[in-house]
Amino acid sequence: RQQREALVSRHSQVLETANTWYRQQLRTADAAIAYLKKRGVSGEIAARFGLGWAGGDRQGLSAVLPSYDDPLPVEAGLVILSEDGRRYDRFRERVTFPIRNARGHLIGFGGRIIGKGEPKYLNSPETPIFSKGSELYGLWEARQAIRKEGLVVVVEGYMDVVALAQSGIECAVATLGTATTAVHVQKLLRASDSVVFSFDGDKAGRKAAWRALEACLPLLRDDISIRFLFLPDDHDPDSFVREYGADSFRKALREAMSLSQFLLAELAANHQMEEAEGRARCVHDARPLLQAMPAGALRMQVQRELAQLTRLTPEELGQLIPLQDVPSG
Ligand code: ATP
Ligand code: MN
Ligand code: MN
Ligand code: MN
Repeated sequence: RQQREALVSRHSQVLETANTWYRQQLRTADAAIAYLKKRGVSGEIAARFGLGWAGGDRQGLSAVLPSYDDPLPVEAGLVILSEDGRRYDRFRERVTFPIRNARGHLIGFGGRIIGKGEPKYLNSPETPIFSKGSELYGLWEARQAIRKEGLVVVVEGYMDVVALAQSGIECAVATLGTATTAVHVQKLLRASDSVVFSFDGDKAGRKAAWRALEACLPLLRDDISIRFLFLPDDHDPDSFVREYGADSFRKALREAMSLSQFLLAELAANHQMEEAEGRARCVHDARPLLQAMPAGALRMQVQRELAQLTRLTPEELGQLIPLQDVPSG
């Protein structure tokens, strides 16, 4: 544990050096500033999130990092060692987004290209202290707002977090281009007992929401609220809040679909519920979902509604989907 803390501290020191440099670079990077302005990001919000700029120079950052032979900048994902032994910067021509862990230590970066080019976003690689599947962008920055609002909003992208904060909604965090994991859900529930997932209003976003629901099922408790906000087609929280304003987004948050509503609506939508065969298949597909839920009042409610939906008696459904009597922690 002590070793781990020493590791985190060594990494975050070199990452902080990089962050300071990126932020300095942004001050004179006219194209990057114009890009952020165009996307509605004020200097104040850029500073709040520590946004920076990695310029086009292949060795801009490498040259300022402490010692040229030190393996740390490579291990920390800032510098790439080429086959001929030369070092060059991982992030170039990108707006940088520092990523902090729940304790505020810098653990990685995201970088958005501002012109054409691929990939649109680049993250730090997996490092000994940075694992995309367990971190949430913005959690550190949002911690006070989450407490104040009694709510954490989960979005897909860096710019969704930044744009929501720009509009006054500061309680948003983002997954880092990965599906929501059990570790994410644990962190979210540690931060708040009320979580709203608001992914993009496209096919990928809807799929991501379902994956998030699956990650939530084993961690459900009767004293928490998990909801899903589906945005109109092809909007993400950034574009939505910029087009319709913060009040509309807050209204949408209040009206977000409950987890059980989403679960049952999705099951109904994916089966031929007017046919016996379709309803049978629905029960079959619902089985692992229900069995993933801890015992409790919510599970009983879902059980009852599923019985109605599939036109079975609760006893019949209970025979088809035997449930363990293990309550949640
Ligand atoms: P923007 O508004 O800046 O165009 P976005 O956040 O709306 O970006 P999406 O395409 O909706 O972009 O992707 C959501 C998130 O998924 C991004 O914020 C990023 O974390 C991740 N992501 C998207 N594209 C890539 C990529 N090519 N490589 C790695 N991660 C990506
Ligand atoms: Mn998308
Ligand atoms: Mn998006
Ligand atoms: Mn977007």
